[in-house]
Amino acid sequence: MIELLFLVLSTRLMKPLLVDFHCHSYCSDGELSPYELIKLAEKKNIKVLAITDHDTIDAYKDLPATKIKIIPGIELSTTWNKIGIHIIGLNFDLNSKPLHKAIKLQKQARKQRAKTIAERLEKFGLKNAYEKLQDKDYIGRPDFAKLLIEEGICKDFQQAFKKFLGSGKIGDVKNQWLSFEEVLSVIKNAGGIPVLAHPLCYKLTNAKLKRLVADFKHNGGKAIEVINGYQNINKTEYLTQLCQDFDMQASIGSDYHNQLGWNRLGVEAKLVDNLISF
Ligand code: AMP
Ligand code: MN
Ligand code: MN
Ligand code: MN
Repeated sequence: MIELLFLVLSTRLMKPLLVDFHCHSYCSDGELSPYELIKLAEKKNIKVLAITDHDTIDAYKDLPATKIKIIPGIELSTTWNKIGIHIIGLNFDLNSKPLHKAIKLQKQARKQRAKTIAERLEKFGLKNAYEKLQDKDYIGRPDFAKLLIEEGICKDFQQAFKKFLGSGKIGDVKNQWLSFEEVLSVIKNAGGIPVLAHPLCYKLTNAKLKRLVADFKHNGGKAIEVINGYQNINKTEYLTQLCQDFDMQASIGSDYHNQLGWNRLGVEAKLVDNLISF
C-alpha cells in the first residue's frame, strides 16, 4: 500500500523532460531576442535547446551563459521538385566555412526574392514594399504579410498567406535557394545532423512524401521531425511510423515564433521513440 502511494506520488512529482530542437528568434522571423528566448527556455525548465532561425546562425553570436544545453541549429530553405522544403541542421560546427558561405548565398537569395515578391504584389495594390523593408537584415514572407495587413489589403496573417504568400501563390517565390543536395551536403560537411522539418506541411500525397524522405536519406538526411509544435497525435504516430520505415531518427521541436500562435516553447522528450540525443 505504502509502495503504491509512493509510486503514485513520485509519478505525479516527476517533471517531464522538455527539449526543443526547432524555434525562432528575431534574427529571422521570431519575436524574441536570442537572450529572451533562452530566458523563456530557462523559465520552462527546458534542458536542451536549438535555435533554428531561417537561413541564419546570428542568434549564436552572443548568447548568455545558461545551464541549458545549447545545440547549434539552423532551418535552411530549399526546394525539392519545385516544392519549398525546410531542412534543419543540428549540432554542426558554427565556424564551418562552407556553412558561412552557404548562409551568405541564402541571404542574397532572400534579398533578391524580396524584390521579386514586392514587384509581384505591386499589381495587387501593395506599393513600395521593398523600399519599406530593404533596411532590414532579414526579410521573410511574414514581413510582407504585415505590410498587406497594414495597408488594409488583407485582414490577417491567415488571409495574407492564403491569398498571396502561401504555397503556389503569387508571392511564393522560391527557386533561388541552394539546392536540396547542396543544403544537405553543407550540413553534413559542418558535422551536423540534417533533419527534414515538418514533413506534413508540404501537403504531399503519401507516395510523394515517401519519395521525398527516400531522396532526403539518399543524400545524407538523418532524421525526421515527428513533432512540430502543437499537433494531433495521429500525425505523430504517422510520422513515427515513417521514421521507422526508413530507419531514421526522430527530432522534435515547437517551431516557436511568438506568443500569438498555438505553439509554446518546449516538447516532452518521452513522446517519441528513437529521438536524436546530444
Ligand atoms: P519565408 O522563410 O520567408 O519563406 O517565410 C516562411 C515563414 O512564414 C514560415 O516559417 C512561417 O513563420 C510563416 N508562415 C508560413 N505560412 C504561414 C501562415 N499560413 N500563416 C502565418 N505564417 C505563416
Ligand atoms: Mn518562420
Ligand atoms: Mn519551417
Ligand atoms: Mn521553423
